[in-house]
Amino acid sequence: MNEVLVLDSLSKQFIEGDSVCRAIDSVSLTIRKKEIVCLMGPSGCGKSTVLRIISRLENADSGQVLGSDGLYSERLRSAMVFQDHGLFPWLSVRENISYGLNMKVRFSSKEQVNKKVSELLTLVRMEEFANSLPHHLSGGMKQRVAVARALAVEPEILLMDEPFSALDTFTRRELQDEVLRIRNQLNTTFFIVTHNPEEAVYLADRIVILTQRPAVVRKEIPVTFEFPRNMADPSVIALVQDVTRLVASGQ
Ligand code: ADP
Ligand code: MG
Repeated sequence: MNEVLVLDSLSKQFIEGDSVCRAIDSVSLTIRKKEIVCLMGPSGCGKSTVLRIISRLENADSGQVLGSDGLYSERLRSAMVFQDHGLFPWLSVRENISYGLNMKVRFSSKEQVNKKVSELLTLVRMEEFANSLPHHLSGGMKQRVAVARALAVEPEILLMDEPFSALDTFTRRELQDEVLRIRNQLNTTFFIVTHNPEEAVYLADRIVILTQRPAVVRKEIPVTFEFPRNMADPSVIALVQDVTRLVASGQ
């Protein structure tokens, strides 16, 4: 029930000249509303490929992506946040956030766009920097703006590809807390690729671990510790170790 996204036996290979790279092989997965699911696996196993197929930047060779209506979802509204914020350097924070909105006709008037952008600026606590250019912002701030820009299109699911990997430990924790807060405030569903077991255990309701290529789902681990999670708790530490071992072994 309440499924936002169903991946049904997705497979994808890349052919370059004579060589065939089998990336993912029959990956199936269900994500429900308001869940935070973290996707992990060895480097190069196909995690980004999964996100790219969901956001239709890439086609699967077989299998399908189903939305909440149970149909192959051309209409699934997803948005992506990358490790590199991807903001337009010549646009202000406000203009970067409204960029996606202006592309959509859902907001008819300029006032509506401005109101929506102001709400998003408040959500990610960036009101003060509305008129700043990206190069005046710290890495963490840029990533907050990237999150606001992605949320502007009111996605049913927010896809994040190693979104906080480039940030220092403290900033990363701040942004992780933002994810948890936004989930509670907006009921957003998150699908987050991370290579950091601690991050996955801190954030996820469920951790999905892929094998090496061709990647299949090796294990799904529900994480039931209460939020905010105490990373010093021995059972939390034990889970971080288990996840690390499972990802590293790769089979
Ligand atoms: P991950 O995100 O898990 O590190 P990717 O999904 O980026 O892995 O890539 C999975 C595999 O597919 C890698 O071996 C990569 O080299 C290959 N690959 C990804 N995209 C392409 C492409 N456009 N053309 C050829 N090979 C690709
Ligand atoms: Mg990747």
